[in-house]
Amino acid sequence: MPNFNVFGAAPRGKRAGRVCARFLRIRVARPREPLPWAESLQCDTMPPFQVLIVPAALLAELIAHARTCAPVECCGLLAGRVAGGTARAETRYEVGNDAASATAYATNPRDMLRAFRDMRERGLELLAIYHSHPASPPKPSARDRAENTYGETVAHVIVSLAGPEPEVRAWWLAPDGAREADLVSRE
Ligand SMILES: [Zn+2]
Repeated sequence: MPNFNVFGAAPRGKRAGRVCARFLRIRVARPREPLPWAESLQCDTMPPFQVLIVPAALLAELIAHARTCAPVECCGLLAGRVAGGTARAETRYEVGNDAASATAYATNPRDMLRAFRDMRERGLELLAIYHSHPASPPKPSARDRAENTYGETVAHVIVSLAGPEPEVRAWWLAPDGAREADLVSRE
């Protein structure tokens, strides 16, 4: 069985408590449970969900994609729906790695456009960008952080093939660091 991290705690960090500060100009402490009004306040300056659920079958597809592309990094998108602070991935899109590198990825623009068009037609939201680390742990590299143009609007899922078993972890990326996101896999 692949390893995946299941953490009960909500994402932490100084950014976590910011609720649309751009509009509200206030800072509030992150509630332990999503408040009823929290969803209406969400905007693209904060993580749009606290927990990412990736069905086991979809997780297996991610790992298979990583293995197919190795020793080059694979990349792709996870899309689904968000409700009550929980995101559930429903599908994924394979995206070509234009960097064709073992230590980096660059999403193919045409594949991205195709994926976004399909998401729009199906009413799905982009939840996460995934990529693989064929020979290193599933932790964001400095380049992953530097080249993240999505802020914390999407999670980053990394599939590592470095160990005896694949390991999958999810992250919220910022230029100055990364904090682990809650990734849950279930049937
Ligand atoms: Zn990476």
